[in-house]
Amino acid sequence: MFWFLFSYFTNTNEEQNPLFSTSFDEANVKFENRLSDKWIQIKINNDDTTIAVLKNPNSNHWLLHTSGIHGVEGYTGSAIQLRILDELENKDNCPNIMLVHAMNPYGMKNMQRVNANNVDLNRNSILNNDFTSDSLVFKNSWLNSLINPSSIIEFYLFPFLLLYSLIVYGLKTCVQLIVTGQYQKQTAMSYGGVEHEPEIKEFYKAIAPFFNNQSRITHIDLHTGFGKYMNEYLMVDNRKEKNYFEQLFKSAAGENNNYYINSEFPEYKHMKGGLINGFQQLLELYGNVQIESYHGMVQEFGTVNFSGIPIFINMRLANFIKYHKPGDDKHLKKKMYECFNPPSAEYQNQCIVKGWKRFSELLLL
Ligand SMILES: [Zn+2]
Repeated sequence: MFWFLFSYFTNTNEEQNPLFSTSFDEANVKFENRLSDKWIQIKINNDDTTIAVLKNPNSNHWLLHTSGIHGVEGYTGSAIQLRILDELENKDNCPNIMLVHAMNPYGMKNMQRVNANNVDLNRNSILNNDFTSDSLVFKNSWLNSLINPSSIIEFYLFPFLLLYSLIVYGLKTCVQLIVTGQYQKQTAMSYGGVEHEPEIKEFYKAIAPFFNNQSRITHIDLHTGFGKYMNEYLMVDNRKEKNYFEQLFKSAAGENNNYYINSEFPEYKHMKGGLINGFQQLLELYGNVQIESYHGMVQEFGTVNFSGIPIFINMRLANFIKYHKPGDDKHLKKKMYECFNPPSAEYQNQCIVKGWKRFSELLLL
């Protein structure tokens, strides 16, 4: 009964690009089958996350590519990693390479962004144990009903609540309330947890043995959903990081790189707990290793228009069904998949091409 609301936004039935999978098992098998003998394989998260490592003993540079920290977004990340594996088969003299397939396998299997504890793992890399927030959402019951409906009535009041919130708080504040993690209520949206989740701890423990105090890591964390359909965004924490990546990426004439500097955008500047943000300190905390340098960025592909409202509608519905209206969520899973991995040939091809392009330019490190 909810679905007519969304049918405007996603309705494509084109043929899947063969690198794109529609189930976790399919993605996993494709990834494993592509790992030739030259790759070292490590499994974490009950063997559902594969860390593939290609070592170059003559280099201190590491190129790290992670996908699927937001579960369902990992299908696009997986397709890009398959392309990377195909390309690397014929390449020599690369830096050390580490590909992490499915950082959040629970979310990827269940077509959710969160893990089994309802935690957004990309808000969970908190430093100095600062798992605190003072979210406006829990101070204003209208906002709370908009973002975290707990009854059918609240659920269907969506258009009025949205209009009210946009008029009173404006679009930027509304976006900020959703993208900034909250550390107060587990069953509510954008929950960042109260401690580091097992997926985060296991990740650092597993990768640490490969690094030492001379290691220089450059990292791409792959996401989808934010931004306009088919647009690519490169998100970094500060201007220095932007400069670092800008000099490595060669833009073709007329190609505009959409950099987002998190600390300078009102929607993002209060965000904490991002994987990239906490990387170096958590590697030291859980892996007990200090490295020479670290640079990280998020590569994000926009999947919908309308200011992300369709994404928000689906995330809101997913959380509502999980905690307030349990039942058959097969249709929701399909909607979530398509919302974050549009099944159109143009989207799929573009992600594979641009995903490989960024990665390949960093191979010159
Ligand atoms: Zn994401």
